Amino acid sequence: MNYLKEKILALQQISEKLEPTSLEREQYITQVNEYTNTFINDLENTNAYSNEIAPPHSFSLDGSKKSLQDILTLYSKGVATKGINAASGGHLGYIPGGGIYTSALADYIAAVTNEYAGMYFASPGAVSIENELIDWMKLIFGFPETAIGNLTSGGSIANLIALTAARDQHGIKSNTIPNSVIYLSPQVHHCIHKAIRILGLEDVIIRHLELDHHSRIRVDDLKLKIEKDLREGLNPFLVIASSGTTDTGAIDPLQAIGEIAKTNNLWYHIDGAYGGFFILTEQKKEQFKGIELADSLVIDPHKGLFLPYGLGAVLIKNKEAVYHSNHYQANYMQDAIDESMPVNPADVSPELTKHFRGLRLWIPLLLHGIEPFVACLEEKLLLTTYFRKRLTEIGFSIGPVPDLSVSYFWYSPKNSDENTYNENLMQEIHNDGEVFLSSTTINGKFVIRLAILSFRTKLTTIEKAIVMIEKARKKVENRMKRKTNQ
Ligand SMILES: *Cc1c(COP(=O)(O)O)cnc(C)c1O
Repeated sequence: MNYLKEKILALQQISEKLEPTSLEREQYITQVNEYTNTFINDLENTNAYSNEIAPPHSFSLDGSKKSLQDILTLYSKGVATKGINAASGGHLGYIPGGGIYTSALADYIAAVTNEYAGMYFASPGAVSIENELIDWMKLIFGFPETAIGNLTSGGSIANLIALTAARDQHGIKSNTIPNSVIYLSPQVHHCIHKAIRILGLEDVIIRHLELDHHSRIRVDDLKLKIEKDLREGLNPFLVIASSGTTDTGAIDPLQAIGEIAKTNNLWYHIDGAYGGFFILTEQKKEQFKGIELADSLVIDPHKGLFLPYGLGAVLIKNKEAVYHSNHYQANYMQDAIDESMPVNPADVSPELTKHFRGLRLWIPLLLHGIEPFVACLEEKLLLTTYFRKRLTEIGFSIGPVPDLSVSYFWYSPKNSDENTYNENLMQEIHNDGEVFLSSTTINGKFVIRLAILSFRTKLTTIEKAIVMIEKARKKVENRMKRKTNQ
């Protein structure tokens, strides 16, 4: 017995290190606070992108220990200043996130208290907060009280959960897969295609719908394709629309697609990961009419509500369809099951144990209220218009008036190939990095894309971007001159 006790106590002396003393905790948090404050204070003068590829620092776990100060220095040099600076307002590529500070504080609290947010039984408070947020979103998007939802790690998993429910509601199994049909835009986010494969639906028939000149789904084409498929004895079961595509920010005609879905008994899914929260704006709310017709909807607070990465959401009207794949009763959890209790997040998602991610939205909403979020969205829309105006002033061509805050532009050079010119321009913009932009291909044309969604993107950011683009264009011109002179 004594030997056993001695051994335990000896181990305890070592394992105790995992519980810093009150004083150590204070020192740690002071150092972290100093680092994060400097990081935020310097953002204005930090590049949005660095195209250095190789991590110049060693992150190896070789068994040696480091002080927190050294770790923070390593983080600053090797992580925070490499690649895309997603916290920067100058991030205008892909779909920018943001990362509001109060959300980070909520993450800290959730991690310190380590609430178990998978089951109501384990944390009635945490699960109630998450369900409250889902109810709030149901209200925003006109979903009925009976709908359920889940706070996911992001839009990809949210889409996966929604499409699983669509599959299960329509009983799409091995024998019906080959003649079942999904209708979607060629511009759906690629995570939809990933989800289709993960769900075992790789062999269903996928109909890519025709788009109008605003890159929105053409409803007449959807109608014709469904009618033709029905005549041929196929099984149309799912149509997917986007309320803000990633490529061009297009909002599909949500109402009209919803009506066709209803008439033909199709599951109606809308991916609003990027654009969904623009429903809160005066400028755009009309265009979201019909979103309430969806059977399932995905939105991403880590995009449209400017949170740090790690929060998506899905709303689904049919609870049974979701439960079919996700609700499970394991013997060892028999204490935790009570049908009269509120919905358990674990019954709506493949996840069981999960980070209490609801807190990162709940605390900012309580602290700031909704107004600054809405003002920020309205501001992003106007900044997009402003950026496009400035681009035409300096001689660029711009894509059609966008539905939201994603657009594109290109330069038409007099004496050289347009695509090559714009590819070079993109390269120069990336070499500079003060502001980050990405590119895409629209109808075979290489174009530079702008996406405005960071809460830190301001009027001054756009002016900075314009100066940078002009500078990059001059470099391309010079490069080409040198080439022709050779
Ligand atoms: C970003 C995005 C996704 C994927 O969401 P993640 O949060 O990156 O997993 C899906 N759909 C659209 C329209 C998006 O913009």
